[in-house]
Amino acid sequence: MDKKISAEQMLNDIFTIVQRLYNEMRSTENRSSNHLKVFEIFAELGRTLVEADRASFWRWDKRAHLLITTAATGTEQIVISDTTGLVGQSLAENRAVVTNDPYNHPNFNSDVDKKTGYVTKSILVMPVSNCHGEVIGAFQVINKLGGNEGFDETEDTKRLSIAAFICGMALESDIFLADSQRDKLTELKNRFGFHSDFKIRYRRKKVSMSIIICDIDFFKKVNDTYGHNAGDAVLRHVAGILESKVRTSDSVYRWGGEEFIIVLEGATLTDTASTAERIRLAVMNSVCSFEDIDIRVTMSFGCAEIDSKLSVEDNVKIADARLYRAKESGRNLVVSD
Ligand code: GH3
Ligand code: MG
Ligand code: MG
Repeated sequence: MDKKISAEQMLNDIFTIVQRLYNEMRSTENRSSNHLKVFEIFAELGRTLVEADRASFWRWDKRAHLLITTAATGTEQIVISDTTGLVGQSLAENRAVVTNDPYNHPNFNSDVDKKTGYVTKSILVMPVSNCHGEVIGAFQVINKLGGNEGFDETEDTKRLSIAAFICGMALESDIFLADSQRDKLTELKNRFGFHSDFKIRYRRKKVSMSIIICDIDFFKKVNDTYGHNAGDAVLRHVAGILESKVRTSDSVYRWGGEEFIIVLEGATLTDTASTAERIRLAVMNSVCSFEDIDIRVTMSFGCAEIDSKLSVEDNVKIADARLYRAKESGRNLVVSD
């Protein structure tokens, strides 16, 4: 006998959940977390629709070969290799995977159970695609021993489909957003990423924040002398140095052309100027090897401590004016007042 919930109950559940989502979105202070809310709420909807004990939604990071939960009942974020587990199998084979005897399934990863004492009885994983049909994530539901009867591949996949589809759409728009904020040449975040991050960091700001704007000196000459591809290699080289010389709490962005901006958290203007000086020396003493050519460049820097009374743009203008003075004073210099 089918003891699963009725269609009417299902519609009621969907309605309640959508209402909750809109309410949370209206009230939330930090709009950047809205996508996480979509995953949480629709993972919960999926869990309810198939009467599972747990539900999770997984994002497939194909570049890093990782599977990362965007929402999971009862656990912190889980990160695993994309070659493991039933989720890995479901994504690789692009089909739903069900087991009602996981401990005897060759791809079941029992590590989480071992850690938490949870005894998994049944699992259903269904892959989720973007609008081009490429698999980008997976929806997973789990029942524990002593819970409901096992999952039914056909029926439960149908029941999960609406929640999985919506998580897929939210994930796809997250991926679009992240791509649009990243510069393809240097792989740093771009100006759009800077503005987006800055708004969030600034709202959370508890400590002082500073910025450094820096620009490669006579970069046009690099292009004119060695060609545009060599110029591109220099941009990537400089981006790597900038990233390696800041702390993990600091962020480097490509501001445009051969200009970069760094946001430093908890740094006074003096700290910021010494970071800029370290970067200046590192760039000056480095060599970018492109094909058979060794290219050397220098950079000029303008630093400013963020003044919360001013707009982002006006804060940037102050650092920019200092960068301009560094250029005027002969380049390969840091100016911070
Ligand atoms: P200054 O010391 O005053 O900064 O001089 P500069 O030559 O570095 O500055 P200018 O603004 O005259 O030239 C910047 C050059 O950067 C011009 C532009 O073609 C080049 N550029 C901008 N973006 C890219 C890029 O993505 N790749 C390459 N190869 N060149 C770029
Ligand atoms: Mg320049
Ligand atoms: Mg410039």
